[in-house]
Amino acid sequence: MAGADRERPGGVVDSPAVSAVPVEHVDELQAYAAEVAACTRCRLAQGRTQVVFGAGNPRAELMFVGEAPGFHEDKQGLPFVGQAGKLLEKLLAGIGLSRQDVYIVNTLKCRPPGNRDPQPDEIEACESHLFRQIELIQPTVVATLGNFATKLLSGRPLGITRVHGHEQTTTLGSREVVLYPLYHPAAALYTPAMLKVLESDFARIPELLGRALVPEPELALVAEPAPPAQQLGLF
Ligand code: SF4
Repeated sequence: MAGADRERPGGVVDSPAVSAVPVEHVDELQAYAAEVAACTRCRLAQGRTQVVFGAGNPRAELMFVGEAPGFHEDKQGLPFVGQAGKLLEKLLAGIGLSRQDVYIVNTLKCRPPGNRDPQPDEIEACESHLFRQIELIQPTVVATLGNFATKLLSGRPLGITRVHGHEQTTTLGSREVVLYPLYHPAAALYTPAMLKVLESDFARIPELLGRALVPEPELALVAEPAPPAQQLGLF
């Protein structure tokens, strides 16, 4: 998207794609971002630099959900700003999209100290923020990036190596969406084979966006052994 992009409070980006969005809708998302910026529902509020609400097109059809802000995200207030973010941008460009066409969030809005895994009570405290974002943005497809977001939003214990590239219809908050699990870009940064899989899974996104909600496919999936409680990693 050339030229006119402009960052607004709450990570809302004005762009040509956004100009068709009703002003009151953008205002509602901005108002919610301002509300969440002051959230102290869980202990992660104590160590954060700032809440990382999310960024992108407030009426995106495609939403990406990662795990939690890392060091750079916490400092800059934007999700996916490091190397993984750059790879995400490349993958988007490969299907004719940019960051301004989609909305990018994390499950947790505040950085866990030392990038440790989020605790169950922190996830419980924060998940309503994610569901409210989904209700306001109204995406058709929600792509989870990595194991953590995939297991949480699918409600299944199946690991990303089993479910990546397999869409399912599910309800998040009050919205029915196509949930589409993908490897986390960080996992593909230094693993060419995984990058190929990620590219191939990305290539199906336009098809999913063009489709109405589909019945959940029969997945011949085998549950992975339950991971240790603290090991809900990216891969
Ligand atoms: S992680 Fe979520 S629930 Fe916890 S303080 Fe941050 S915004 Fe609030």
